[in-house]
Amino acid sequence: MRLGIIGGGQLARMLALAAHPLGVSCLVIEPTDAPPAAAAAEVLRADYDDPAALDALAERCDVVTVELEAVPLEALERLARRVPVRPAPAAVAAAQDRLTEKQLLRRLGIATAPFDDEVHGLPALVKARRGGFDGRGNRLVRTPEELASARFELPDPIIEGLVPFRREVSVLAARSVGGDVRCWPLAVNVHDRGILRTSRVAVSEAADLQAEAEGLIGRVLDATGYVGVLALELFDVDGHLVANELAPRVHNSGHWTMDGAVTGQFEQHVRAVCGLPLGDAWAVGASVMLNCVGELPDAAAVLAEPGAHLHLYGKDPRPGRKLGHVTVTAPGPALLAERVDALARLVPVVV
Ligand code: AMP
Repeated sequence: MRLGIIGGGQLARMLALAAHPLGVSCLVIEPTDAPPAAAAAEVLRADYDDPAALDALAERCDVVTVELEAVPLEALERLARRVPVRPAPAAVAAAQDRLTEKQLLRRLGIATAPFDDEVHGLPALVKARRGGFDGRGNRLVRTPEELASARFELPDPIIEGLVPFRREVSVLAARSVGGDVRCWPLAVNVHDRGILRTSRVAVSEAADLQAEAEGLIGRVLDATGYVGVLALELFDVDGHLVANELAPRVHNSGHWTMDGAVTGQFEQHVRAVCGLPLGDAWAVGASVMLNCVGELPDAAAVLAEPGAHLHLYGKDPRPGRKLGHVTVTAPGPALLAERVDALARLVPVVV
């Protein structure tokens, strides 16, 4: 079986690495030179909406998926006329635009930050509707003057009220072609200047919110007829969940599942989109994922730490760039905390 992937970054690389053992090979469309996915998949060097490359993907693949949401809807629809595209183009498109995303969430009865006309007073956040990632495209504005200039500078923005969250969590789940759903335990996420620094999953960490989060993501999965892995980023506001963002794909806050769950997100996504049965999503012990940002860690030093797993993406170091991640696992939270302390000193963040 052959899986087509639009986008050739680290997510496509890890999808392709997970696909091989299942007997699935991958063909990727990516315009940049020597992308991370090239280590594990054949790459068609072309823009994501290049008609000839899309037709080649449709011709040569049994099913097509995306590693990023910023793929033009017309490109996905062109593919979908010839080959199954999973998740469906409409589900990807809904998450491309912060306004349609919020409208979808609200329609499903899921709380979000107040936005546009609902925002009364400052400070507030101005966010570009499209194309923002890792905090780029967001401006915190404190005065009417700052609001006016952010509105002018960011293309087609939405305004969001500030959510007084206690912490940030994310829930990831997969839905199969037949509608079977598996949900991983919630991850508690810490960001540093807009970039994810750590995701922590311990059995007791966010257990009180698990059922609520599974209900929310289940509504999105079922309402959109979703196939594949979906991530929902949430704010924990005094024990209640407020949705921030959907990612219609595998997600950085799910990287811990590769080493800390019975089935990792990349394998699960391949299983789902290829029409295969889903695997269990239980956590095996407690895990923390640390992103390597801007500078590579000393691989030997990381691997000398008990419970550490290193995943490098084959990218050249550059400030703010995600170059790899380390997941550390332990049987329980106390030992995990010790191991994380040791590793945090070895995993640099340069932004
Ligand atoms: P985003 O680009 O929506 O993922 O936002 C990046 C980060 O900004 C989030 O991880 C939060 O830490 C923060 N943030 C985003 N939206 C809000 C909000 N409405 N209220 C408070 N903090 C927010």
